[in-house]
Amino acid sequence: MVPGARLILLGRQGAGKGTQCARLSRHFVVPHISTGDVLRAAVREGSELGRMAKSVMDGGGLVGDEIMVGIVRHRLSQTDAQGRGYILDGFPRTVPQAIALDEITADRPLDVVIDLEVPSELVLQRLSARRVCRDCGTNYIATGAEHLPWLCDVCGGDVMQRDDDTPEAIGKRLDLYEQQTSPLIEFYAETGRLVVVDGVGTPDQVFHRLTDAVTSRR
Ligand code: AMP
Repeated sequence: MVPGARLILLGRQGAGKGTQCARLSRHFVVPHISTGDVLRAAVREGSELGRMAKSVMDGGGLVGDEIMVGIVRHRLSQTDAQGRGYILDGFPRTVPQAIALDEITADRPLDVVIDLEVPSELVLQRLSARRVCRDCGTNYIATGAEHLPWLCDVCGGDVMQRDDDTPEAIGKRLDLYEQQTSPLIEFYAETGRLVVVDGVGTPDQVFHRLTDAVTSRR
């Protein structure tokens, strides 16, 4: 039997986190908790959170720490995450979020924090070609040869470009990543919880590196 896992995947936007988290979630049988997906769902529902988050997200900014910590605290208190564990994707994004997460998970600490390392030139190329199913979040790479309307192979939903994958918003998000999220790498390295995994390669190669990294840390 495969044991569960309590993981964080860090990495620049476009490093392949979404794709790898979906595979890791099936492998370890734990929920993939993407705070970006939670916010996009709130935007689709038109909730108060969604209306507030939309303008921040479209501009490539970050939603406030207090709101994000509240969302994650609630999600991690649910039975699946309390039992087998979880994979966090997109959270924490700032050091205050990481400190709050340590408090939330004090009883059952994280197994490992993985930094999926992909050079920024490659990430820029990937983001401009990225397309996403608006219903289930499956990621695709556009080649220009797709038949339109493009429908998702997994659920039949519409595959489209994310509103925040415009060149301006991509530039802003990558700058923000360097400023606010890369200090997290230091935070987790200093506390001995970080493993850096090379994210360049085929999805299968990267997936095997990730599962090896988790297994060797437990
Ligand atoms: P992502 O899908 O992870 O790239 O997230 C999309 C957008 O949602 C980000 O550009 C932020 O505006 C917002 N977001 C997601 N997670 C967080 C977080 N942990 N803290 C602040 N904003 C977030």
